[in-house]
Amino acid sequence: MGLFKKRDYIRINPTHSIQETTAPVKPVVPDGMWEQCPSCQQAIYSKQMGTEKACIHCGYGFRIGATERIELIVDQGTFEAWDSELSAHNPLDFPEYSEKIKKAQLTTQLKEAVLTGSCQIDGVRCGIGVMDSQFIMGSMSSIVGEKITRLFERAQQEKLPVIIFTASGGARMQEGILSLMQMAKISGAVKSHSLAGLLYIPVLTDPTTGGVTASFAMQGDLILAEPQSLIGFAGRRVIEQTLRQELPKDFQRAEFLLEHGFIDKIVSRNELRTTLASLLKLHGYDK
Ligand SMILES: [Zn+2]
Repeated sequence: MGLFKKRDYIRINPTHSIQETTAPVKPVVPDGMWEQCPSCQQAIYSKQMGTEKACIHCGYGFRIGATERIELIVDQGTFEAWDSELSAHNPLDFPEYSEKIKKAQLTTQLKEAVLTGSCQIDGVRCGIGVMDSQFIMGSMSSIVGEKITRLFERAQQEKLPVIIFTASGGARMQEGILSLMQMAKISGAVKSHSLAGLLYIPVLTDPTTGGVTASFAMQGDLILAEPQSLIGFAGRRVIEQTLRQELPKDFQRAEFLLEHGFIDKIVSRNELRTTLASLLKLHGYDK
C-alpha cells in the first residue's frame, strides 16, 4: 500500500500559504533533455548520446540528416558535392507532389533525398552518397537514381571506392515507373564499377526498405549496418497477411539479417568512421 493518497499532494505557492490540490505536481523537465529510444523504448539523457545520437542501451542510431552524417564520417572540409544542381521535380504532374517537394526542401535544406560527392575518410579519398530519410522518407525518385548512378560512374572514372549510407522508404510513388526504373539503372552502374575492380560498401541505416533494399543497398562487396536498423523490402503486415503466419519479433532488424547472412557486419555509430577507414586501407586505397 502506498504511503500517500493521491489527494495528499501539496503545492507551495509563491505567497507561502499552503494549498491542497488533488492533481499531482508534474515535474518540470526542460524540452530535449530526455529522449526515448524508438528501438528499446528506454529513456536516455540527451547529453549522454553525444554528437553520434546513438542509444546508450541498445546502440540504435537515431535518424539523422545527410549533412549531420557527413560531419560525423568524413574528414572536416573534404566533402565536395557532385551534381548538386540536380533538384527534385514532378515529371508526371502528380497532384500535390510539387508542394511536398518544396516543403521537404525547406525542412532539410537539400534539393533531393540524397547527397553525393567525394570526400576523405582518415585521409583516404572515396566517393560518397548519403540518403536523408527526412526528405519524403528518403524515397528514390528519378533524380535520386540519377545522382547515385552518376556517383558510381564518376567514381569509376576516378578509380575511387564508393560508400553509400542508405535510409529510404523505397521508390517514390509519385513518380511511378520512373522511380522503379532507377533500380535497374543504378544496378547497371554498380556492376560496371565492380567490374572495374573497385570497392563498394553500403551502410544500411534505419530505415532501409523497398526498392533501395531490392537494389543497391544489397549489392555491396561488404554490407554494413547500424544496430537495430529496420531493413526489409515489403512491410511486416503485408508479409504476415500474405503468409498468414506471425513473423519473429526481430524480423527485418539488422541483427536478424546478420544471423541469416544478408549483411556482413553490424557497426555501432561511434565506430563507423574508423571501421570504414580500416576497410578502405585494407583494400589498398591509401596508396
Ligand atoms: Zn535503445
